[in-house]
Amino acid sequence: MCGFFSRQLFLSLTGLRDLFFPRRCRVCGHPLETGEEDVCRECFDDLPLTYQWETVQNAAFERLAARFEPQAAAALFFFRAGSDYRKIIYAVKYGGRRRLGYRMGFMLGEKLATNREFLRCQAVVPVPLHPLRRWKRGYNQAEDIARGIAGAMGLPLETGLLRRRRHTRTQTGLKGLAKAKNVEGAFRIDAERVAELRAEGTGELLLVDDVLTTGSTLAASAAPLTAAGFRVSCAILAFTS
Ligand SMILES: [Zn+2]
Repeated sequence: MCGFFSRQLFLSLTGLRDLFFPRRCRVCGHPLETGEEDVCRECFDDLPLTYQWETVQNAAFERLAARFEPQAAAALFFFRAGSDYRKIIYAVKYGGRRRLGYRMGFMLGEKLATNREFLRCQAVVPVPLHPLRRWKRGYNQAEDIARGIAGAMGLPLETGLLRRRRHTRTQTGLKGLAKAKNVEGAFRIDAERVAELRAEGTGELLLVDDVLTTGSTLAASAAPLTAAGFRVSCAILAFTS
């Protein structure tokens, strides 16, 4: 009896919460309907997709190729200044919306799986956060995205290979050369894990980050991987244009 009443109380409190603080779409701000989570169906349908997974010669590839030699690269959607879609990135990166990161990653993974270039990869590697920043934030958004990609592509997620060597300043607000200098030499790899991965796979890795701006973070994390003999492709949630 008591359980019944507390459940009724819980349900009416949830109802009250939804009445006063309705769950809203992170992008357009409209109340979410049953079954929708974080982003409404309309906003998902209108996501400004890049279609970069359809061709290897694309804007993401070219931006990265100015810094290192990627095999292939693709982002899921465009991230324009002033666009409401940037709120997806904030929610995934700072807002603790980890399932949204995973779901967006899964969506990207499904696109990448349509192109053989990306299917050559043997594992999905998220760009790591420094342990201190990861501890403060509680999670690494690139890892959530990478887990979604790995799930959609049927590839293993590899988190033990790449590490942050030192604490870099946050990249937000840094431009061009300052940004590149900030992350230069910031990553190292686990030599034992390199040997294991080289022995068991194609030697190609899919490196994952949330946003592609200048490409300096992806280039810095790719550097020790290519030095160890891996070929590197890149997958990014959003491409700044
Ligand atoms: Zn919406």
